[in-house]
Amino acid sequence: MIEYILTLFRKIFTLKASDNQNEMRKHIILFGPPGSGKGTQSKKLESKYGLVQISTGDLFRYEMKHDTPLGLKAKEYMAKGQLVPDEVVIGMLKNKVDATPEAKGFIFDGFPRTIPQAEALDSLLSNKNEQIGKLIALEVKDDELVSRLLERGKTSGRTDDSNEEIIRNRIEVYKKDTSPVYDFYSQDNKSSTVIGTGTIDEIFDRLSEEIENIEV
Ligand code: AMP
Repeated sequence: MIEYILTLFRKIFTLKASDNQNEMRKHIILFGPPGSGKGTQSKKLESKYGLVQISTGDLFRYEMKHDTPLGLKAKEYMAKGQLVPDEVVIGMLKNKVDATPEAKGFIFDGFPRTIPQAEALDSLLSNKNEQIGKLIALEVKDDELVSRLLERGKTSGRTDDSNEEIIRNRIEVYKKDTSPVYDFYSQDNKSSTVIGTGTIDEIFDRLSEEIENIEV
């Protein structure tokens, strides 16, 4: 009998502990066109808030570097500045989220880029009783994006950053396929925009303010 009561207490305690952990997880989508500074800002946000950045672009570049089947599949799309098919990206993202259970929360960088990706992300999180806290978009004008990316291309070794035509294609893909994701989260009042120009610290302060206003 005593053993039974103890087991019951343990169960209740474990449930409460995991509930609390889930309540506290803050997930953020850092949104914006290529070259808007998502990667730079994600790194700073990671260390300030103890969140884990998941950049689908970085994950693909890792796979490509190691010549994995996933990397080879992604390569042909990335080289042209096109989106990798949803099912490929979603599978990879799920694996990464599930492999990082200890994260206090995620910064999704470069994901979701389509409505089906956003729906898949929401259902992945809701299966864990979690949700996106906020989508924050960095706003930067097209010409500024192009010059930033061409500059980055001089040192990044990324072929998709070295050709203006491919860069402009990536920006068009963003406008056509990705920007609707902003409206998708607006329906739940979760989308906001910050100006993505100024110094890195100024932009970081704007983002931090948005993050601190999240009610989870
Ligand atoms: P990024 O590093 O975020 O600029 O991504 C570089 C490239 O990786 C993109 O131009 C796409 O070809 C591919 N990619 C990264 N994330 C995604 C995604 N969520 N959906 C589809 N393709 C992606």
